[in-house]
Amino acid sequence: MSDSAASAAAALLDRIQAPAGSGRDIPDAATRETIGRAPVHSVAELDDAVARAKAAQPAWEALGHEKRIELLLAAADAIDANAESLAYLLSREQGKPLNGPNARFEVGACSAWLRTNAATVLEPQVIVDDETLHAELVYKAAGVVAAIGPWNWPMMITTWQIGPSLRMGNTVVAKPSEYTPLSALALLAVMNEVLPPDVLIGISGDREVGARLASHPDIAKVMFTGSTATGRKIIESSAGNLARLTLELGGNDAGIVLPGTDAKEIAQDLFWGAFINTGQTCAALKRLYVHDSVYDDVVDALAEIAASVPIGNGLDEDNVLGPLQNKAQFDIVSRLVEDAKASGGRIVTGGEAAPELGELFYRPTIVADIGNDAALVQEEQFGPALPVIRYSDVDEAFGWANGVDVGLGASVWSSDPDAAREAATRMQSGTVWINSHGGLHPMVPFGGVKSSGYGLEFGVEGLKSVAVTQVVSGPGRKA
Ligand code: NAD
Repeated sequence: MSDSAASAAAALLDRIQAPAGSGRDIPDAATRETIGRAPVHSVAELDDAVARAKAAQPAWEALGHEKRIELLLAAADAIDANAESLAYLLSREQGKPLNGPNARFEVGACSAWLRTNAATVLEPQVIVDDETLHAELVYKAAGVVAAIGPWNWPMMITTWQIGPSLRMGNTVVAKPSEYTPLSALALLAVMNEVLPPDVLIGISGDREVGARLASHPDIAKVMFTGSTATGRKIIESSAGNLARLTLELGGNDAGIVLPGTDAKEIAQDLFWGAFINTGQTCAALKRLYVHDSVYDDVVDALAEIAASVPIGNGLDEDNVLGPLQNKAQFDIVSRLVEDAKASGGRIVTGGEAAPELGELFYRPTIVADIGNDAALVQEEQFGPALPVIRYSDVDEAFGWANGVDVGLGASVWSSDPDAAREAATRMQSGTVWINSHGGLHPMVPFGGVKSSGYGLEFGVEGLKSVAVTQVVSGPGRKA
């Protein structure tokens, strides 16, 4: 990271942070030094933001698709032009390293997603076209969209929410997580260099502001990514404003390694499927079921990678894993690993904090010989600790994999493509990957089943989810 990127990041920060003496201090996730002050907007300021977004919406919709496409492409260019300073700020606030599938990768995904949103077309659907009737389903803007996001991928997930919304002619009020407000606000500031006023407004506040935003009478649609507990509250508040909801909630993704699989072939992909963003990823591999015949090989191969992968301050170009983002998450991971030890799990590598690196660092951890009922298996750890469970009966492994109340992603691993494909559909999850875990594509729909939420993001389905439908019904061809 060059000095010029650091000073450009400081200038960007100055554009978004609260004036000196106000706001809330935000720490660097790795060093815990203060990096800036997040504005703390009040409910009254939120109400004003929604009113401005509502007033701006008709003109934004009236611009038409071509002009909005042009502006989204310009916003993607603006992100690329500021990529290093955005990545620098993201790395400090969130903790993810610049390198690897981390901060630079996340910023790159933002512009890539916006370009795909711009290029995706949602055509009216002709339902009936005969002598007596011509009926079409057309898609229109919903109005003002609330975009409420988590702290793990704060820029990318915000982009997933706002890109399709803007594309379809909605205006957006975005409320980032109170843990990572600066990253999201910086992204919005860069996009707002090219967007018309009040089309995209960032509000930074606590949970009370999030709750008010979701229940606001002028919000037509809530795009929410976060915990299942908060998702349930948003469902309750939608009883008041009838806002349409897309809920991307918690997960506890399972992977199953089938008999006869070559451990060395899959070890790298397994590792990154679980440890991407230091395990703080919604659709990361969080429980791995491995057949007895290959169990020891898989555990050894994973442990070898985990013990050698560089971890530390994200601004150091060598590192590819970082700290936990916040103390609450650090405590969850510590508690679950201690519980795993107490219940007989074998720590193959890691299993403890790494205080010499900083307060919130935890060593990449592989826990073997752990029972399916351990808390580390049954609860979402959201951190760098992977339980590996041995099985000998494939049906029992699927029973375990599907035996939780969430279903975001899942994976099956096999050297036999036919066996893998057949096994894949047995998983109860919104996505199932074969021989990989967690890869996303801006045109491929993504969403959860069971308590992982409902609604789809990305591609054409993603545009539909931020639109309202209207049936246009008229005379048929020979009428
Ligand atoms: P969280 O639910 O605590 O917070 C998410 C956002 O909701 C924050 O911006 C918060 O301020 C806001 N909020 C809190 N209370 C609210 C309320 N009553 N009404 C409206 N908004 C409110 O989640 P988190 O801890 O930031 O994120 C971690 C969780 O998110 C994990 O469970 C993870 O699996 C999940 N996640 C899911 C996906 C996905 O795509 N399914 C992606 C990333 C993270």
